Amino acid sequence: MIIRRIRGLETEFGVLCVQRGEGQRRRLGADEVARQLFRSVVAWGKSSNVFLDNGGRLYLDVGSHPEYATAECDTFTDLIAQDRVGEILVQELAEQARERLADEGTEADIFVFKNNVDSHGNSYGCHENYLVSRDLDLADQAELLIPFLVTRQLYAGAGHLGPDGGFQLSQRAEHMWDPVSSATTRTRPMINTRDEPHADPARFRRLHVIVGDSNMSETVTWLKVTTADLVLRLIESGALLGDLTLDVPGRAIREVSHDLTGRAVLTLASGRTISALDVQRRFHAACQAFFETGDAEEISAADRPDLEAALELWGDVLDAFESDDLESFADRLDWVAKRRLLTQFAERHDLPWTDARLAELALRYHDIHPERGIVPTMVRRGAMRRLVTDAQVEQARAEPPATTRAHLRSRFLAAARAAGVEHSVDWVNLRILEQPARRWADAPSMSPRQVLLTDPFTTEDRRVDDLIDSLQQFEQDR
Ligand code: ATP
Ligand code: MG
Ligand code: MG
Repeated sequence: MIIRRIRGLETEFGVLCVQRGEGQRRRLGADEVARQLFRSVVAWGKSSNVFLDNGGRLYLDVGSHPEYATAECDTFTDLIAQDRVGEILVQELAEQARERLADEGTEADIFVFKNNVDSHGNSYGCHENYLVSRDLDLADQAELLIPFLVTRQLYAGAGHLGPDGGFQLSQRAEHMWDPVSSATTRTRPMINTRDEPHADPARFRRLHVIVGDSNMSETVTWLKVTTADLVLRLIESGALLGDLTLDVPGRAIREVSHDLTGRAVLTLASGRTISALDVQRRFHAACQAFFETGDAEEISAADRPDLEAALELWGDVLDAFESDDLESFADRLDWVAKRRLLTQFAERHDLPWTDARLAELALRYHDIHPERGIVPTMVRRGAMRRLVTDAQVEQARAEPPATTRAHLRSRFLAAARAAGVEHSVDWVNLRILEQPARRWADAPSMSPRQVLLTDPFTTEDRRVDDLIDSLQQFEQDR
């Protein structure tokens, strides 16, 4: 059982650039748009893969989806605020790219979508990362987690308008096939088992859940990670849930997504059947029971209020499914808000659900632009609730989480940049790359050049202080 847990969220964004011209509207290729977006990042960080002052990471892999990964967070508020910072940063890159293109004579609109499918049917992800103990058996863990992940779409789905006009709970559900795998592209697993703990491998594992939708609603992002955390705690406590192992998870995930009532009937490996809603009820009841027992005392005091509130909201949502009364969640659940938006538009203009204007509206639900975007507009009108304040997001942009090693990374980055010394960092390493001047290079008290931070909860470390001190020697040499 672990008491405190590191969590992190990775978000890949979709980008679209529509050139304004006489009559025709040309689309720039997605690769080209992404490259345009990262011109400012490359100018600033000399790379399209940078770690930020707030401890997070902004990068462009092969392909065309800008990605932002939050720093290691151990409070849910930090996580939600850090995740929102990603939206602001990528939106700013888009704005800078638009201005640059305009300066070069190309008038264009650039859209950034926090979604999971593009118009060609390609899917990209939102990864959840949870620190777990190495002692936990990964196979057992996956066995219990999969039925939870397959059915949590009932609240975690971002809503999806299919090409045939059908409305579904989740965008990602269409693209997932295997429960677990160590490859991410070929087989589309729900949990990636690649063993990359970004921490001491003897003590820790990083559970890498890649099946979820990206969410626009802060409430859903929060509910998604708090409920997953509760279920992990349940599994860690050794609680048994009875056998909920699904017969074919890759089929079940689509069956759940296609039934907005939660009544989709799933076949278990045992041959029995159970509804998606009942699977969630079982998990909810077990987590509730666990929370009321002594085991739960091992939950950190910082997590307790969130997990308690999550249990309550989770129960309320399941009750709403029971009574077919989800409309009251349109200010919190993405798929409910999106369905309402599409329904109203289709009725007002008397359109079939296959109409291209509905598809465009469904896409615009994911536009993160602060004025143009639908969700930011809903927030301004009080039609979508927030969980963190603008001030908290601003703070999460400027500062790393104070309670994890992101704090040390951020200190080192700031010091290295201030000293103008070539450096590099990743989740576990802090490195000075520049060669010291010859006159002190082989001095007996050779300065440290690299620190490995294998405990993600470390916030103070003598070695990091020394590493930062050693930066001054470079300054003295200049
Ligand atoms: P990919 O993009 O190929 O999925 P990845 O998941 O290894 O790669 P990143 O995109 O760099 O890597 O994101 C790592 C995420 O894991 C970040 O959000 C980070 O905060 C989080 N993280 C880092 N260390 C840990 C840890 N020990 N336990 C859990 N999460 C961690
Ligand atoms: Mg990533
Ligand atoms: Mg990842």
